[in-house]
Amino acid sequence: MPDLRGAALAVLTSVLFATPSLAAPVKTPVPAPAPAPAVQRQAMLLKEVPTQEKLIAFTFDDGPNRRYTPQVLELLQKYHAHATFFLIGQEVVRFPEMVKKIEAAGMEIGNHGMNHKWLHKITADEIQKEITGGSDAITSAGGKKPYLYRLPGGFASDDASKLLGSLGYTVIGWSVDTRDWRMSATAEGIERIVMRDAAPGRIVIMHDGSVHREGTIQALSHVLPALEGQGYKIVSIGELLQKSSYQALRKLPPQKPCGAKKVKSQPKKERPKSFLERLRPTGRKPSGRKAG
Ligand SMILES: [Zn+2]
Repeated sequence: MPDLRGAALAVLTSVLFATPSLAAPVKTPVPAPAPAPAVQRQAMLLKEVPTQEKLIAFTFDDGPNRRYTPQVLELLQKYHAHATFFLIGQEVVRFPEMVKKIEAAGMEIGNHGMNHKWLHKITADEIQKEITGGSDAITSAGGKKPYLYRLPGGFASDDASKLLGSLGYTVIGWSVDTRDWRMSATAEGIERIVMRDAAPGRIVIMHDGSVHREGTIQALSHVLPALEGQGYKIVSIGELLQKSSYQALRKLPPQKPCGAKKVKSQPKKERPKSFLERLRPTGRKPSGRKAG
């Protein structure tokens, strides 16, 4: 049983790339300055939340994917589980119909950027395009406006953190890294990591986008009933936040349905290339590390 007390404190006070002056975001003696839109609060980074309840949040990155996302949805529904899908805008443009399918299945959608760019490698303008482009793609496809962001690769910069904060995003990290994105990942390995690291309030990262997700699907088909057998409830990030004291520290914007935008049916032409095809035309593995 992991010691959540220390972790909880760290989680609740963590701010992306916190500067000394912003390290304690909760209690700041406010000398009532004039409205200063230029002062931007950095986004909160959440890796897990303190809770006594046996809740675990599952998250799936890099979709939507026409092949794997429906399989993940089917499994989640079979076990009455919920999850959060962090979608890439460019993939949403390719498969817009998946957005409504995900939401209709009772799942939550978060923003994973327009083109899956690492935010510490690009300019402030490009960061803005990544964030707003991803959000716009989701809402244009009929999805709710996202308020959760997952950083591709887990990387951010000061600019990114401030912009995400000013846009009202909470950045969602992870505390159970299945490493299912690795080419060498196996279903058994993924399953072992989840069952080893499962604990109340933790956030699991998996991937339903890009290629070769058979291992993820197979592992999921085992860990969902196994966790259920241990008394866990698998929830989305939003549900996890609702059940935790995290709410006391930061009010989340309500999840509003996004207006009445109708999705135009896409003309069936050839699809744009996937973000992976664009980023890695040679099929090489990315040189960086880690999930996201
Ligand atoms: Zn990703």
